[in-house]
Parts: sequence; structure tokens; C-alpha cells
Amino acid sequence: MASPLNLLLLSTPVGPLGSGLGGGVELTLTNLCQELGQRGQRLTVLAPMGSELPDVTSPQVTIQPVAGTLQPTAHTQERDCEVLLPGDGVLPAMWDYARRQQQQYDLIVNFAYDWLPFYLTPFFDQPVAHFVTMGSLTTAMDRAIATVANQFPGRIGVYTQTQAETFLPGTACEVLGSAIDLSRYRFCPEPGAALAWMGRISPEKGLEDAIAAAETTGCPLKIMGKIENPAYWQQIQQQYPNAPIEYLGFLGTDQLQAVLGQCRALVMTPRWVEAFGNVAIEALACGVPVIAYRRGGPTEIIRPGETGWLVEPDSVSGLVEAISKIDQLDRWACRRQAEQDYSLTALGDRFEQWFQAILGRRAKTVPC
Ligand code: UDP
Repeated sequence: MASPLNLLLLSTPVGPLGSGLGGGVELTLTNLCQELGQRGQRLTVLAPMGSELPDVTSPQVTIQPVAGTLQPTAHTQERDCEVLLPGDGVLPAMWDYARRQQQQYDLIVNFAYDWLPFYLTPFFDQPVAHFVTMGSLTTAMDRAIATVANQFPGRIGVYTQTQAETFLPGTACEVLGSAIDLSRYRFCPEPGAALAWMGRISPEKGLEDAIAAAETTGCPLKIMGKIENPAYWQQIQQQYPNAPIEYLGFLGTDQLQAVLGQCRALVMTPRWVEAFGNVAIEALACGVPVIAYRRGGPTEIIRPGETGWLVEPDSVSGLVEAISKIDQLDRWACRRQAEQDYSLTALGDRFEQWFQAILGRRAKTVPC
């Protein structure tokens, strides 16, 4: 067996790991740490103060908390906005730690969707790889990602091809997908009457459309997730005072899968190009079909007519029609798809190959 790699992973600076503010990247990071740790790789995760990885049991994984003001989220900024960096920010503090400690690591892996790590890449002696977790949002980020892709081929990883296509033409990306620990999601053959909606409660997730569809069909809707934008949440509650909805809060995986499994389908209503949609594969693992707008990552996940339905983007009537056809879908087919395509083993293999390719390429170009 090849000797273990020493990996330094830099988490998202928008919130502590475990808070839900980071969205799907928190789950991806958790799963990657668990899988690579079990394979014997040594991982240090730099993350904002208060971070925890409760679902990672591998002793090979340690968290190094870093103090500082959280970074503003990229999806709340205008396309042509300037780069924002709080003076006492956690992001520069994390990269300062990485710079000082870099010789202890074979590879540094960035999970932040922020300009600074891309800009700093050529200044590091050790190789820096970037797992980009959202599609194109700002001009500055598009340029920063394209620059690294051109200067350091193979260093940009993404979730999906659809996501990769949102970046500047010629930005070559490695498509790495996502995965979940299937053993933590129980298959539920007999659901109740409710539908599920899960995710950060923030305008780009389009929750109001799922609520409108619930109101029209009369199907109860269970909502799970972090309220990232309280004003938006309040506004949509006022807009649909009589909709049959129930907000259950931000749930941990064990509770989340128990509720989700009981639902007839997961409804995904992204207004943006969803880079992946981790909630979709969590649903499939429970045997829950997915109804989603035909936009971004879900188009690469859902098999229409088999494990879900893809709907005309932003069409509530399209959602309503798809809801009427849920019973045509086989819940076992959903679970099977999750097992075939989204296991942690497959994710670990893809990431390890990506890391080895970066290190192999570097060994050829950098004399020892
Ligand atoms: N999630 C959670 N608890 C909840 C609702 C959602 O932990 O109550 C997690 C879910 O498991 C998923 C993430 O929130 O990992 C949402 O990720 P996704 O990729 O769907 O969207 P993103 O937030 O990255 O845009």
C-alpha cells in the first residue's frame, strides 16, 4: 500500500462546521474525512472556531479551530461586487496557518468558495487543490478559478459537469460528485402522506414554490433546514398563511433521515444552478423519490420516471403535476441508485485518484 498522505483541508469560512451555514459542503467534508481517515490517510481540518465533526469517528482526523470573523457568503453578493475580506477574518487566518504549516503536508485542499485561496495558490510551496462547491456567482471568482485551472491543470475539482459549465469557457475541472454514508440512511418502503423540503432557507433555494405546490395539492410539507435568511422565511410564511407546512428545524443526519424516509417525495426548487444537491442523494438513500426543477446538479442525479421527476424550472404547476405522479416511482429503485452511484467508497476512490494525479503531475514538474 502507498504510504499515507498528510492532507490539510480548509473548510468553508462562512460558518463553523456543524452549524449548517456551509450547506452541503459540510456533509461532503464530513464524508470525505470519514472515508479517507478509515483508509489510513492523515487529515487535519482547519475550520472556524466552534466547528465539530460529530459523525467522523476516525482517529486519523483532527480539527484545528481558527478564530476570526466569519466570511460573508458568496451567494448573497452581486455578480460584479468587489472581493470582501473582513480585516480580522477567519479566512486569512486559516490561510496564514496553512502557509506556516505547509511543509507538514503533502497536499492542501481548499473547500472555500472565496477569492483569496485561489489568489494565494501560486505563493505556496506545497500544492493547493480546490474543491469548488457552487457554480458561477461572481466575476471575480470566475476569473480566480479560471486562472488556477490554467496555471495549475487538474487542481480544480467540482461536484458536477453542469456546475463546471457555468464557469468561464476553457476552465477545466475534475468532476468528483458527492456521496453519503449509506449505512446511516434507512430505507423506508411505506411512506406517510407528507412531502419533504430540505436545505438552507435562503432565496436561491426557492422554498416558496414548494409551499405553493403543497397548498395547491393539499399535501403536507415537512421543512427541514437552517434559517439562513430570517426575513425571507418570515415573508414566505406571511405569503402562504394557510399552506399545510411544518418547520422542524435544522436536524442532524439521524433525525433527518428518520423524517425524510417517511415522506412521499423530496421537492427541490432551486432558483440557481444547484452545484449538486446533497439532499437529493440523502432522499434516494431512504427510498424517497426526488421532484426537482430541471436545473443544475439534480439533472445529473434524478432518473426521470424511475427515481423522480424533472420539472420545468420555476413552474409550480409542473411541481403539482409531478406530485400527482409520485406513485409511478419505485422506492427500491431510489435506494438502488444511491447504492450504485453515491457510496463513500466511490467518493474516496475519486478523491484519492484526484490527489494522486496532482501529486504525480507535480513530481514530474518539480525537481526534488
Ligand atoms: N441539512 C441538514 N439538516 C437539515 C436540512 C439540511 O443537515 O435539517 C443538510 C443536508 O444534509 C445537506 C445540506 O444541508 O447536506 C444541504 O446541502 P445541498 O448540497 O443540498 O445544498 P447547499 O446548501 O450546499 O446549497
